Amino acid sequence: MKILVLNCGSSSIKYQVFAMEDESVLAKGVVERIGIDGSFLEHKAIISGKETKVEQDVPHHNKGVSLVFDILQDPEFGVLESIEDLKAVGHRVAHGGEAFPRSTPVGEQELEKIKDLSRLAPLHNPHNAAGIQVVRELLPRVPQVAVFDTSFHQSMPEKAYIYPLPYEFYEEMGVRRYGFHGTSHKYVAQLAAREMGQSLDDLKIITAHLGNGASITAIDRGQSIDTSMGFTPLEGLVMGTRCGDIDPAIVPFLQKNKGWDAEKIENVLNKESGLLGISGISNDSRDIEEAAESGHDRAQVAVDIFCYRVKKYIGSYAAAMGGIDAIVFTAGIGENSDIVRSQSLQGLEFLGIEIDQEKNKVRRKMAEISSAGSRVKVFIVPTNEELVIARDTHELVNGPS
Ligand code: ADP
Repeated sequence: MKILVLNCGSSSIKYQVFAMEDESVLAKGVVERIGIDGSFLEHKAIISGKETKVEQDVPHHNKGVSLVFDILQDPEFGVLESIEDLKAVGHRVAHGGEAFPRSTPVGEQELEKIKDLSRLAPLHNPHNAAGIQVVRELLPRVPQVAVFDTSFHQSMPEKAYIYPLPYEFYEEMGVRRYGFHGTSHKYVAQLAAREMGQSLDDLKIITAHLGNGASITAIDRGQSIDTSMGFTPLEGLVMGTRCGDIDPAIVPFLQKNKGWDAEKIENVLNKESGLLGISGISNDSRDIEEAAESGHDRAQVAVDIFCYRVKKYIGSYAAAMGGIDAIVFTAGIGENSDIVRSQSLQGLEFLGIEIDQEKNKVRRKMAEISSAGSRVKVFIVPTNEELVIARDTHELVNGPS
């Protein structure tokens, strides 16, 4: 059974085709610069290894999805005889609010709710919904499934998700902590448990998804009980360009002292802060680590703050769960940066966390990097959000296997 996974962003559509018999990827690619000059599609057929780049005007998502369908049936680069070979389409949807505590097949009602939730995720949900709508028009008989970044964190208790603000803000506007990257946190925790030969239900795990966006989650016996992102993905850890936790009083201070409006401040906190804002050179941790090594002071400060924040969250989640059995690093920085992993865990020996510096040199593959004597197991687990979406889609369309 072949399943298409779509991740529709504001100006891009990422896609992968899975053959669910063995969960292999048949093709993957991306349409970039939708609605902007210079749009193109990049595609790779995995088995043949054939790759192509199609430069073409893509004014809207409708055209983007059509291009994807065309290339998937292309005689040279395609992996489907006919688009009818697709038995389901799974979508990554940013925000499921409280309406979607799990993945769901998408009918008219669900699509309306996803659109409704655009008020909480204006940068993402409208594009996710547009993708669902386009597929429905082009392939009306193919079932679609939505997999939400927020669902996994719906298990958080009230004490973790209510902000200490007037309670009506929550009741009237849905202002609460939601958390994101849920599919990734759940997936890497499951793999770590399997590696330990134990059930997730018996473990206390902290998962650190450290990419351009970064979040960390406390998973107590399989349930997310707290996570660092909140009402939006701006809260929590230091990120590529997002500030993470700051004193909220800085916002009115900037309004008064700089004369900035809400939009300008939102832009600065989301796009000009984090690693980029501190270092002044880049949002990419590779550039920053390189600069820090060659003596760039602010790059070093950026690395230090990034790791210090990860460490503080680990400490607080250890307290929240009353202990830790495993820590998992994933995503671009988590999978690749030995410096970040090592520095974030430095000084946590008192919690029973000790890594083996030799093993820690590994990149981008599943590995245990804790030392033999470490009470807490530490893992690198490459994340695979697309596979989770394909699995959920398969299960919802066919029933559990
Ligand atoms: P997102 O999916 O959130 O855009 P990724 O998970 O792809 O982000 O992570 C991007 C981050 O991972 C960047 O900061 C990048 O520098 C970092 N990264 C990727 N490869 C390496 C590496 N070899 N060493 C250090 N950091 C890396």
